[in-house]
Order: sequence, then C-alpha cells, then structure tokens
Amino acid sequence: AAALTPEDEPRPRLTESVTVRVPAKVNLALSVGPPRPDGYHDLATVFHAVGLFDEVCAAESETLTLTCEGEGAAEVPLDATNLAWRAAVLLAETTGRHPAVRLHLAKGIPVAGGMAGGSADAAGALVACDALWGTGLSRDELHSLAARLGSDVPFALYGGTAMGTGRGDQIAPVLARGEFHWVFAFAHEGLSTPAVFRELDRLREAAGEEAPAPGVDDELLRALRAGDPALLGAALRNDLTRPATSLRPDLRATLQAGREAGAIGTLLSGSGPTCAFLAADATGAAAVAEALAAAPSVRAVRRALGPAPGAHVL
Ligand code: ATP
Repeated sequence: AAALTPEDEPRPRLTESVTVRVPAKVNLALSVGPPRPDGYHDLATVFHAVGLFDEVCAAESETLTLTCEGEGAAEVPLDATNLAWRAAVLLAETTGRHPAVRLHLAKGIPVAGGMAGGSADAAGALVACDALWGTGLSRDELHSLAARLGSDVPFALYGGTAMGTGRGDQIAPVLARGEFHWVFAFAHEGLSTPAVFRELDRLREAAGEEAPAPGVDDELLRALRAGDPALLGAALRNDLTRPATSLRPDLRATLQAGREAGAIGTLLSGSGPTCAFLAADATGAAAVAEALAAAPSVRAVRRALGPAPGAHVL
C-alpha cells in the first residue's frame, strides 16, 4: 500500500477533556498616550508573564456551561459576559460549529487585580477548545481571535516577555535573560480598569498636561537583555500608578511597605490594585513577602518567578 502523507493520516481521536494553564502578567513599563476616538488609548508596554496561573478545563458536552473555583471565584460572572465563555463562542462561530463545551476555571490570578486574569482565561479557553474540537487553527488565527476578545488576550497566548503596542494587542518578543523573583500583594477590593484610565485622562486635563506619545525607555530593554534585577528594578514605570493611587490612596502604603522591606523595584501591576515587587533573589523575595503579609492594606501575598510560558496544554 502507498505510504500515507500527513494529510491522509486519520485525525487524532478527539480527547474528552483538555486542561490549559495560562499565566498572569505584569507590565514592566506601561506608557499611555491620549484617548483615541474609539475610546481606547494607544499604549507602549512591556508585558512580562509570571508564574501565577489560571487553569481552563474544556470537556465534551451537549451545551455550553461554565463553572469556576479558586481565587476570587465568587466575583467571576458565569454567563455570556465571562471572557472564557465569549472565547468559546467566538471560536465556534469562526469555525462553523456549536459551542458545545463544559468549561471549568480554576483561578490562581486575582479577579479585577490588574494581572489580566479574565484575558488569561479567554486565551486559555481558545487554546483548550481548539484542542478539544480539533479545529487546528494557526498561531496567527488564534492571535486575531484573541485580539477581538481584548487587548491583553494575545499576550497570554505567548507569555515570556514582549513589547505590546497599539491597544497592547500588537506583540513583539523582547530579548530577556535570566529569571526574576517577584512578590505580589493583592488588595482587599478590585479596581475597574476603565475607571483608572478615565482618572488618568482627568488628572492630565486638570493639570493642563499633554499626553505624551507612548514609548518604552531604553534602560528597561537594556536591563532585560542583561538579566540584571537591580537595573530592571530602577527602570520599572507605570503611567497608571498616579490615577490608581488617586482612586485608592491605600495603595501608597502597600508600595511603601514593600520598598521598606528591601524590594529593589516597586510597581503597580497594570491598572492595579495588585502591587508588584521585584527582589534581588529568593531570600530577598521571602523578606518582602513576610513584611507585606503584615501590612493592613494587603489581603494576600504571592511569590512568583518571571518570565513564565504562555497558554499551554497540560
Ligand atoms: P486587566 O488587567 O486586563 O484589566 P484585571 O486582571 O484587572 O484585568 P479581570 O480579573 O480580568 O481584571 O476581570 C475584570 C472583570 O471582568 C471582573 O470584575 C469580572 O466581572 C469580569 N470577567 C469576565 N470574565 C472573567 C474571568 N474569566 N475571570 C475574571 N473576571 C472576569
């Protein structure tokens, strides 16, 4: 018999369930331009995936259902407003099938924490449903679906460390060496991303400031290339720090507590309220974590290494 070419081979049998692990992100730099007519802001950012994960499980089912457990699960909507649900529907529509899947989210990423947990779940659901249904979309096709779901969704597919431009959805890898020790302080209450951007626009207008064209400093890129935590700590920038601390003054106390405990870099994560602290090494991270655990403005503390891999099937 003639040898089978790859195209002729029988398709692999569909598995009954697929679990995908997806990382949280911090923005090592977040430079925000003026508001655009479409309501978004042009950004220049450096995304960095860290080892705090959500898991998205997709299992065979007659209809679309969604359940959730873990960090902040009580605040996660379980209907068509959930980004994982929307991801499953979008993939089904695009590939001409029914969105028949039982989705389960196991959350380790704080909800409304500025670490793109919902975006991670959307990326995870795309990858999990693609594998479950055997749709076999290319990386580029998944990227364009991801960008339609939200600005932070494409990066969650790739992980690592990457430059984001446009709304944050145009991704280019950044050369980064080494491993960084992070400590994250979760706040008692979440913060709405659109509210923080509105507050930035308001503060700039009140001060008569022109929003600058977004850009990333060379020092940050040099620090990443060198894999040098001290240089990286000094180069961290986030334009959303001022509006987030204006809305939530208690975040200043959190940032201060980490600094006093010896963090070599302090950073608001995305639009907050999670605060991120860079330590020189594992011992430094333990000291920072211990001090933050005692701060009244902090609900919970996690340690994680970065960079972490993007959405991947377990
Ligand atoms: P970002 O940093 O991208 O702004 P975030 O980490 O601050 O995101 P998310 O956890 O993504 O915030 O969620 C913000 C809101 O989105 C939540 O308050 C919730 O109502 C809604 N949401 C929709 N889908 C999800 C999901 N899968 N997980 C968590 N929240 C979700």
